Amino acid sequence: MKFVLILSSSWLLAQAPVADPQFQALKHQLEQSQFKVLLAPPPQRGAYGALNPQTRTIWIDPLSFDLGIAVPVLVHEAVHAAQTCKGKGKGNIAPLGLTLEPLVYAQPFWLRYGDIHRKDLEREAFTVQTQENRLDLVSGLLRQYCTK
Ligand SMILES: [Zn+2]
Repeated sequence: MKFVLILSSSWLLAQAPVADPQFQALKHQLEQSQFKVLLAPPPQRGAYGALNPQTRTIWIDPLSFDLGIAVPVLVHEAVHAAQTCKGKGKGNIAPLGLTLEPLVYAQPFWLRYGDIHRKDLEREAFTVQTQENRLDLVSGLLRQYCTK
């Protein structure tokens, strides 16, 4: 029953326009870097966002707008996008070697996603996601690694 409710609310939200200018700006930058951003539940059950490095497709669950976490979820996947660019495509994904320290409060998120990707990739994504200047940071990373 709970699953049905989640699906139907995702469907309703998917019909609504996405107004957040920060979300739109980052989505646009990702599209400029040849990533597709789908506002749809990720193929992996239980995640709000996902990235497939082979197809350069990013999923953002419409539910994350309802929860008020759409921007950090997109920032998280955008870090994986930069890692994908650094890995030179073909499904390779490489850590960026960030020296930022992860924040303690990021840990619950990190554990949540821990079984989906490799830990070093996740540490970077959650570290950037939880910084106050996360949008500037990730925008810079995309420029650095995804600009040809
Ligand atoms: Zn991740």
